[in-house]
Amino acid sequence: MKKPLIIFLTIFIIIVQAGFSAQAQAKKEEKPFAIAIHGGAGTMSKAYLTPEKEKAYKAKLKQAVDTGYMVLKKGGSSVDAVIAAIRILEHSPLFNAGKGAVYTYEETHELDASIMEGKTLNAGAVAGVSKIKSPIQLAKLVMDKSEHVMLSGQGAEQFAQSQGVKLIDNHWFDTESRYKSLQEAKQIILQKDASLMEQPVDYKFGTVGAVALDRNGDLAAGTSTGGMSAKRFGRIGDSPIIGAGTYANNDSCAVSATGHGEYFIRYHVAADICARVQYLKKSVHEAATTVIQEVLKPAGGNGGVIVIDTQGEIATVFNTEGMYRAVRAYKQDAKVAIYK
Ligand code: ASP
Repeated sequence: MKKPLIIFLTIFIIIVQAGFSAQAQAKKEEKPFAIAIHGGAGTMSKAYLTPEKEKAYKAKLKQAVDTGYMVLKKGGSSVDAVIAAIRILEHSPLFNAGKGAVYTYEETHELDASIMEGKTLNAGAVAGVSKIKSPIQLAKLVMDKSEHVMLSGQGAEQFAQSQGVKLIDNHWFDTESRYKSLQEAKQIILQKDASLMEQPVDYKFGTVGAVALDRNGDLAAGTSTGGMSAKRFGRIGDSPIIGAGTYANNDSCAVSATGHGEYFIRYHVAADICARVQYLKKSVHEAATTVIQEVLKPAGGNGGVIVIDTQGEIATVFNTEGMYRAVRAYKQDAKVAIYK
C-alpha cells in the first residue's frame, strides 16, 4: 500500500474510534432526571369526583408533569421544570392555586407560594398576595431579584410591579365551585367556635406542587396555594414556608407538601424528611412514610408529600384518602394517580 493511503486510513480509524468512545463516554455520563407533582390531598368522595371530573384532573396532571419533564429533557434546570409544571396547575380552575383558589372568610382570595433551589439553598416565597396571577413566578422573582426570602401582601405586590409584573383584579380567581365550598365551610364554622377557625373534618385540599431533579444533578421544589377555605385574619399556611411546605437541598432531597398547614409548620415536615435522608441515611420513601404516617398522623395532621432525591428516586406519601399526583421517572412515561 502507498504511504499516503496508510496515513489516511490510520487517521480515519483514529477519528472513528474517538467518535465512538466520546459517544460511549457521553452515554455513561448521562445523568438521570425526573419530576413529580401533586395537586393536593384530602377526602376524595366519589360523589364529588365523577368519572368526567376524574378524567379532567388526570389529563391536567399529565399535561403538567409532561411539560416539566420536557424542560428537563431539553437540559433545563430543575427550578424551571418546577415552575413550568406549577404554572399549568395554577392556571387550571381544578386546583386550589391561582385560578380556582379557595375563598377567604371575607370572600376574597389570598395566595401563597414558594420555590427552593437545592444546589444553592436559595429560596423565594410570597404570602397573602391577592393580585398576582402566578404566585410561583413571583416567588422565583423574590429568589432571583431580591435580597429576601419571603415577601407578603401589598409589599410583595409592589415588588412585583417593580419587576414589571402586572397586577390583576382579585375576582379573576373566582370560581363557582370554590364559592359553594366557602358557603359550606362557613356553615360548619358558624356552628362551632368561629374564633378557633376549625376546619371541617372532610376538608378537601387542592394545593399544587412539584419537585424535580435535572441533568446537572440539581434538585428543586415549589408549592403554590390559595390556602384553606374560609381562612381569616391573614392566616398563612405552610406552603410559602421554607422547611414546612417546601424544601430542597442537594445533600438530601426536595419536598413539596400539601395538607393542614398548621401541622406542617409545627412539625417542619419538608425539612424533617430531608434531615432524615441526610443524617439517618433513610430512603426518601422511608423518611416520608415515617414523618407522614408516624409523626403527623397521630398528631392529627392530614396531608401528604412528594419527594425526590439526587438519584431520581421518587416517593409520594399521604395519610388522606387520596392525593392528586403524577410522576415521570427517567425515560419512563407519566404515571398519574389519585387514590392509594
Ligand atoms: N397546605 C395548605 C395550607 O395549609 C393547604 C393545602 O395543602 O391544601 O395553606
